[in-house]
Amino acid sequence: RVHVVLFTSDLRVHDHPPLRAALTAADAVVPLFVRDTGVAGFLAANREAFLADCLRDLDAGLRERGGRLVVRSGAVVDEVAKVVTETDACAVHVAGGVSAYAHRREDRLRDTLRRLGCDLVAHDGVVTCVPPGAVTPDARDHFAVFTPYHRHWARHGPRAVVRAPRAVRVPDGVGGEVLPERADVAGVSPGLAEGGERAGRALLTSWLRSGIGAYEDRHDDLAGDATSRLSPHLHFGTIGPVEAAHRARAAGGPGAEAFVRQLAWRDFHHQVLAARPDAAHADYRTQHDHWRRAPREVEAWQEGRTGYPVVDAAMRQLRHEGWMHNRGRLLTASFLVKTLYVDWRVGARHFLSLLVDGDVANNQLNWQWMAGTGTDSRPNRVLNPLTQAKRYDPDGAYVRRWVPELADVEGSAVHTPWKAAGLDRAALGDYPDPIVHLPDGLARFKRARNLD
Ligand code: FAD
Repeated sequence: RVHVVLFTSDLRVHDHPPLRAALTAADAVVPLFVRDTGVAGFLAANREAFLADCLRDLDAGLRERGGRLVVRSGAVVDEVAKVVTETDACAVHVAGGVSAYAHRREDRLRDTLRRLGCDLVAHDGVVTCVPPGAVTPDARDHFAVFTPYHRHWARHGPRAVVRAPRAVRVPDGVGGEVLPERADVAGVSPGLAEGGERAGRALLTSWLRSGIGAYEDRHDDLAGDATSRLSPHLHFGTIGPVEAAHRARAAGGPGAEAFVRQLAWRDFHHQVLAARPDAAHADYRTQHDHWRRAPREVEAWQEGRTGYPVVDAAMRQLRHEGWMHNRGRLLTASFLVKTLYVDWRVGARHFLSLLVDGDVANNQLNWQWMAGTGTDSRPNRVLNPLTQAKRYDPDGAYVRRWVPELADVEGSAVHTPWKAAGLDRAALGDYPDPIVHLPDGLARFKRARNLD
């Protein structure tokens, strides 16, 4: 008996229920990853490079256990069908997905495999802690508000962690491609983190040992960089959210509680997207239009040249690392959608072109949250970049790290270079003046939303 395990956003051997189920039921297992032409357009360079690390490491993890990873390229359903035919497999295991694409993939796989006399087994609780739909309010298919969702989520709790297998036997003669390499991907951010399960597990362990304790107090400190940075690993599934939640809870304390709450936010957005796949591009709750096009301002925002140092620092961090601090994401998104009044989809698209953790559920729904079209219960809140800077980068260290033109400006004066007395303007190079006067942006926003 041969079973196939189709890896998608779960590139690990630890805590992997589909792999465990296949190994329990079958004599031999084909661990398969398809470089799916159907999602090729979604894969930005940073994610492609990180993915290459993940595939190499997954292959290494399987080889340590006597197996290997089979990589194929093509349309996912066709490639799975080919492997099933070649190996005479009787079941294919896959992690239950959330996006509209994942649902379509699952449906088409089920149909095709049925014709081949093969079962499709979709496993819940692999990509999220609590599967979408497992907790729902009365008479609705998903929660639209986080707080009640979180209450139910905490009561439901994640399943138990599944141990990594000791041995994986792959049938002889199943051909695969050469594994992709990060070095072959062009246009990767120079500071991109390393991918792969080993890197993810090392990061989680060091985070639990020495980071999580201070998380509650320091998660918003831009310069302190005191968040876990686990998001790319959660996105590619090199760390399972269930294991992360259990191990964090075992660490205990308010930092662990706050961290687990963030994992619940991740699940929350996933269950919204699962129920409302159109929220990936359409306004989820409140429709707003009259967005401005403002191409020059959008370009300045993308390049980190708005003249608001904290906005520019965060946008440059994104370009340099393919990752941005959550507080940076919030304030740069607010700046684009509320101060410049540009459609959230423009910002979401730019983020997805660079973010190593860029994913449809978290990115689009956080953008909608900030735009006031989504699940935020205060849809008209505007984050003033100067107030944000003073609160979350009080000494200006974050700005000096990412905006070299301002590296010599001391203290919090770095947030308002245009008014720092005695500052040698020439020394700031071509750092721009603010592209918008904040009160004008606010007045425009209020007019657009009829708030006066
Ligand atoms: P930590 O603070 O250590 O949190 C732990 C984990 O919890 C994160 O890794 C992440 O998986 C989850 N998490 C934390 N905050 C959120 C949140 N608000 N929503 C959902 N999950 C959360 N996160 C992504 O994973 N992918 C995205 O594409 C993405 N786009 C975003 C776009 C905008 C405009 C905003 C405001 C937020 C976005 N986030 C996204 C959420 C959040 O900013 C990142 O998850 C977080 O910054 C990742 O850093 P970390 O791993 O150090 O987080």
